[in-house]
Amino acid sequence: MDLKEELRQIALDNDFQLFGVSNLEEVESTEYPEGRGLQKPSEIMPGAKSLLIFGKVLWDEGMNLSVSSAGEADFSGGGSLEYYNFYYNLVENLAWRACNTIVDRFGAKAIPAVTIHLKVAAMLAGLGWIGHNTLVITPEYGPRVRWVGVLTDLELEPDQPFTEDLCAKQELCKERARCVRSCPYSAIIPGPSQGVEPGKKVDQDMCVVQHVFDVKPAPEYEKHIRRVTPRGMLECTLCNLSCPYGLKVEEEIIPARRGQVKE
Ligand code: SF4
Ligand code: SF4
Repeated sequence: MDLKEELRQIALDNDFQLFGVSNLEEVESTEYPEGRGLQKPSEIMPGAKSLLIFGKVLWDEGMNLSVSSAGEADFSGGGSLEYYNFYYNLVENLAWRACNTIVDRFGAKAIPAVTIHLKVAAMLAGLGWIGHNTLVITPEYGPRVRWVGVLTDLELEPDQPFTEDLCAKQELCKERARCVRSCPYSAIIPGPSQGVEPGKKVDQDMCVVQHVFDVKPAPEYEKHIRRVTPRGMLECTLCNLSCPYGLKVEEEIIPARRGQVKE
């Protein structure tokens, strides 16, 4: 088995379903949206030679849990906010296990990276198309995938970028994109994400995700906040769940994980 295939197997052994090798230089030089707490790969591992991308299917809405104190900060961190996001912690923890194996088996450096521009990195790794909802739409699981990068000093050839416009090909989105239509706040600016200034495709002030942790959210936002505890909420995923490419998860993976059908 060659090195890339061994790494793929390590990802699969650690509960990831998707694996690719991104283009480290392009992820480094791509334009990042401001105010999101994102970092360039070189800020995380100076001297890294490759960027692996692992994708995990979220097959239960419970994995979209976030918990936050009431504090003075935003999602970019800092301030007095204590903000925990289950799916980030989940993929990061699983990636650490994979990194331990990489370190042990190859004597290489490897660390997870959840704060790089993962959507661009996953597209460059050939894993999916950045859809109208700004999520990475994979042919296998639609946008129901959460991503984590792994920076390593192993040298690998990057995979080819994903170039197929899955949104343009989707019959159910021909008249109007289902993700755009699904948003109760019309926060998604219609049309392709390509060519839109980073961070501007979804109006952050209108998206409920930006309001779930307000001390007193406005009533129109409260309506779509899935509160599970006083400071714990399931993120809004309407623009994710509405994408037809994710139907396989609905029809096959979720029933299998619930023990309703055999995989
Ligand atoms: S997360 Fe919810 S509120 Fe935000 S853009 Fe998507 S559908 Fe709209
Ligand atoms: S719902 Fe349609 S337009 Fe939106 S991301 Fe999915 S395929 Fe693209």
